Amino acid sequence: PDLLQKIVGAVARQPAQTRTVHAVNGVNLQIAKGEVLGLVGESGCGKSTLGRVVAGLHPATEGQLLYKGQDVSQLGRQEQLAYTLGVQMVFQDPQASLNPRQKLHQILGEALHVHKLAPAAEVPGRIDAALAEVGLASEYRARLPHQISGGQRQRIGIARALMVTPEFLVCDEPVAALDVSIQAQVINLFMDLRSQRGLTYLFISHDLGVVRHISDKVAIMYLGKIVEMAPTAEIFGQAQHPYTQALLAEVPDVGRRKRVFTPIKGEIPSPLNPPPGCTFHPRCPHAMERCRQEVPQLRETATGHVTACHLLD
Ligand code: SF4
Ligand code: MG
Repeated sequence: PDLLQKIVGAVARQPAQTRTVHAVNGVNLQIAKGEVLGLVGESGCGKSTLGRVVAGLHPATEGQLLYKGQDVSQLGRQEQLAYTLGVQMVFQDPQASLNPRQKLHQILGEALHVHKLAPAAEVPGRIDAALAEVGLASEYRARLPHQISGGQRQRIGIARALMVTPEFLVCDEPVAALDVSIQAQVINLFMDLRSQRGLTYLFISHDLGVVRHISDKVAIMYLGKIVEMAPTAEIFGQAQHPYTQALLAEVPDVGRRKRVFTPIKGEIPSPLNPPPGCTFHPRCPHAMERCRQEVPQLRETATGHVTACHLLD
């Protein structure tokens, strides 16, 4: 069964601007239980906004988010709480997402207290279990966030999410701020947790190497839209969209250090004033007249593979 069925749209209001920006536009995602969907795109493409919409931190003002078949905007109080707890977010910067004045046990125990999920006597044991699950000794419970390393802070960010027994984690660039050697450890932790807990992930990253390693399916996002989505092996072996092909062309050979793509030739257009037709046309080597006028729709181009490009007609 699909855990997350559909997001039709989300609108972000950028603080510095009075205009409304369609950060996520007509995105249609389906994520099955136990699946890892990697979401890739250049910075500013709307992938973080989409993640926040999925996690319920940002309203899908123009769309619909179906979780286990139910529209989350229509949930009753009990069901709303189940959704709020069931979908947790792990952020890029654990430093910024942890209260610097709270000891780690306070950080980890907070949601249990707030939502009255466990009797007070059980909380310390649950905190120790969560610390162990992310590979930290129980001595860490009394430390403050600045007294541990960046990798350990991200383990705490993950443990905090696990405290409420979620089914689904939205991970927004969860290893981007870490050293490469630490990144691999944290990725392995995500993979262990997935197999042990049957977790589902929306895994947002601009690092194609990380996404390839962890994802079952990959969605490529450009200017607020999914332009291609397919099983991981197909994205990396038979990419169909010119944007995906360009991203992959910029990934150096395996073994070389830099796996993060640099922006493709040409600037990303402003989401305030997106180009007409296919929004990728100003940067696309295959752009045709039709591309400047007609928006390509996402459609199935192979089994389980959807692409939005006029070339595939
Ligand atoms: Fe390029 Fe046209 Fe395809 Fe857009 S629709 S990616 S401009 S060929
Ligand atoms: Mg982001």
